[in-house]
Amino acid sequence: MSDDSSYLFYQSRNPRPFLDYGEGIYLFDEAGNRYIDGSSGAMVSNIGHSNPRVLAKIKAQMDKATFGYRLHFRTHPSEDLAAKTVAMTPDGLDRVFFVSGGSEAVESAVKLARQFALTQGQDARHKVISRFPSYHGCTFGALDLTGYDPLREPFAPMMEGMPKVAAPATYLDRDNLSEEARGIKYADLLRDKILAEGPETVLAFIMEPVGGASTGALVAPDSYYGRIREICDEFGVLLIYDEVMTGAGRTGKFLAAEHWGITPDIVAMSKGFGAGYAPLGAIVAGARLVEPVLDAGGFLHGFTYAGNPLACSAGLAVLEEMDDQGMIENAARMGEVLMVQLRALMDRYPFIGDVRGKGLLTAFEFVSDRETMEPLPPELDAHARLVELAYERGLIIYSRRTRGGMTGDHFLIAPPLIITEQQIDELMVILRDALDAFAQDAGLPVEA
Ligand code: PMP
Repeated sequence: MSDDSSYLFYQSRNPRPFLDYGEGIYLFDEAGNRYIDGSSGAMVSNIGHSNPRVLAKIKAQMDKATFGYRLHFRTHPSEDLAAKTVAMTPDGLDRVFFVSGGSEAVESAVKLARQFALTQGQDARHKVISRFPSYHGCTFGALDLTGYDPLREPFAPMMEGMPKVAAPATYLDRDNLSEEARGIKYADLLRDKILAEGPETVLAFIMEPVGGASTGALVAPDSYYGRIREICDEFGVLLIYDEVMTGAGRTGKFLAAEHWGITPDIVAMSKGFGAGYAPLGAIVAGARLVEPVLDAGGFLHGFTYAGNPLACSAGLAVLEEMDDQGMIENAARMGEVLMVQLRALMDRYPFIGDVRGKGLLTAFEFVSDRETMEPLPPELDAHARLVELAYERGLIIYSRRTRGGMTGDHFLIAPPLIITEQQIDELMVILRDALDAFAQDAGLPVEA
């Protein structure tokens, strides 16, 4: 067994302990330390770790065949998972294409949109408008849609530079509008952008219905969602929902789109869809889009591992378990419990400026002043520091500081959908302890 971490490179030179095993909402390292997986990894492990029924179903598939290339065989896991996915998504989304991750899903959504436009004789449509800040993935196409400068800048000359509109960070807005009017104001930025770009050149608009890593669980006013759908319809622009993080039950509905009764033209999913049991993602779209593409010769796209029976058996087992155990309903209920407890943190910690989210995708954000919403000074390195203090105490949370964006240090709390009320209490005890330690280190005041 190698104990040399230098062969493998990720982002940092700072190795973590070796993972030993997982159980429910907990992970254990090889030294026997227990961690609450308060962010489900990177918002992945929606059904919790080491679910025995899911493992048994994957094992059963493993014993039969781990791979059969999709051009050589149909497979039951892929077709059954497609059927199950369609059954769980809103009407009008009835065609599925499998991939192995979120960036692949986003790339696939955009390529499907483009091929559909070609079947309509709309060859000029090629621009995909996205929001700033946003995160859509790290491959070149998905990165070009991503509104997060530190990840883009080194590669910027290698991309076209897709148009961006401001994400609806209404909690930072100091206008005198009602919530509803604010939602419309932000949505209309898309209309202005489409007109400025030339509507005949705009292919699609892509958005995370609830923001993920880049904005920290940003939820728009309700009015935003319907207005965006109307604007896309007005100009024949396809609406792509990036539900890579929000899909598969995370926000208390199977798709976040369901909260607002929106049917996007294409939905990208991953993360909770395979829930950490297999690298898996999907795009789901209406037959209205897909059939013309198939009639015109087929989708010019496909990854080697797409739809492999092993990953699909895992995805199918995950969705069945989610359904059988009522996990999405639990996410909605526990999301409310968690939100109340997170909001209560604002009484004790004046440097928490906002708490937000939907279901079990929640976040809080640090500020130096609640009036101006100025972030904490970057030298405090708060986003990294609090994560470390929580980690040392056995709680995993996920953080970002959006440099060049509009938000400061924010922290995502997104435990597996199976979490209980008692486990939320347990999580909050550690979180408060870590926040106290952070405040003390940083010399920030705490209310008694
Ligand atoms: N879209 C969103 C909204 C995401 O949160 C992510 C991952 N954080 C991606 C796309 C990219 O997914 P992956 O890392 O699996 O390629």
